Amino acid sequence: MAPVDLPPTFGEAVRGEIMRGKALAPFTWFRVGGPADALFIPADKNDLAQFLQQLPDNIPITVLGIGSNVIVRDGGVEGVVIRLVGKPFGQIHIDEENAQVIAGAGAPDAMVARAAVKAGLAGLEFFAGIPGTIGGALTMNAGCYGRETKDVLVRAWGYDRYGDEPRVFDNADMGFTYRKSAVGPGIIWMQAVFQCERSTPEAVAATMAEITVKREASQPIREKTGGSTFKNPSGENGETLSAWKLVDAAGMRGARRGGAQVSEKHANFLINTGDATAADIEGLGEDVRAAVKAHSGVELHWEIKRIGREA
Ligand SMILES: Cc1cc2nc3c(=O)[nH]c(=O)nc-3n(C[C@H](O)[C@H](O)[C@H](O)COP(=O)(O)OP(=O)(O)OC[C@H]3O[C@@H](n4cnc5c(N)ncnc54)[C@H](O)[C@@H]3O)c2cc1C
Repeated sequence: MAPVDLPPTFGEAVRGEIMRGKALAPFTWFRVGGPADALFIPADKNDLAQFLQQLPDNIPITVLGIGSNVIVRDGGVEGVVIRLVGKPFGQIHIDEENAQVIAGAGAPDAMVARAAVKAGLAGLEFFAGIPGTIGGALTMNAGCYGRETKDVLVRAWGYDRYGDEPRVFDNADMGFTYRKSAVGPGIIWMQAVFQCERSTPEAVAATMAEITVKREASQPIREKTGGSTFKNPSGENGETLSAWKLVDAAGMRGARRGGAQVSEKHANFLINTGDATAADIEGLGEDVRAAVKAHSGVELHWEIKRIGREA
């Protein structure tokens, strides 16, 4: 798909920043991928709503968080990419009375975990193990070490692409399943409310520290990566299989394509060793899927979102 033809007056009325042809690689963990036709950083929620209200119907929208779960393809992303960064979207409030944490969609999960610790609220420690934003967590039902977003979310709200009224979703409306929300890409998440249990800062901090240590030991967290590449599939009797074990058994740990490699540390992680293209990484992922299918007959499904056009 060719770059979308944005009208010359496009985005004139907004207070935030619009950058045409802006490279997206620096905004992703993999550090690969082409430019957005336009990247929009809204000044605040009203600016975003106004922008959406004026956006022509034929211009596609993609929201990017911290880019810890995406491969942006080398040809870039069509239409407008929206990033909710900075103070207006990253606010975290504690509701002492209800033992709840209210977080903006742009707030990093780890900061939300730390705010809960400080307030002596338990339940959000697992967010310390996820290097994304709350917007990404709502989309992905992010989780680790036995807890996921669906276990703690009370409600979230966002805008649809027309930016009219805030759309509120209770937990039950989110249609959460493993690493997925049924709400889909039509909503731009703005804020979420999480339920906690009262505890003490010391007790919560200890659980969080355990998670941090486990994660450091098992994941290549200092690499250019995208987290778990494939979802853990179901076996013949409905049991959950480990994607990394299947990749290992197929002999793909350490496999390479161009500058991309299957991590030696965790076989369900792909890494950019330095000069990988998005095509190298996605191609290597497909090599892994083919090898696992040939070896064990299991079909792996991508957990990482792949967005944009091929070069
Ligand atoms: C080293 C490493 C370890 C990881 N470990 C885990 C783990 O243990 N558990 C786990 O679940 N994940 C893990 N991940 C994956 C990733 O951190 C999560 O999926 C995270 O929730 C993605 O958040 P993000 O802000 O980076 O989203 P992005 O990667 O930027 O986007 C992911 C998806 O969310 C959508 N999105 C983001 N923000 C919004 C918004 N405001 N409104 C609408 N849609 C939005 C995007 O459009 C995209 O579809 C790991 C990743 C890395 C790199």
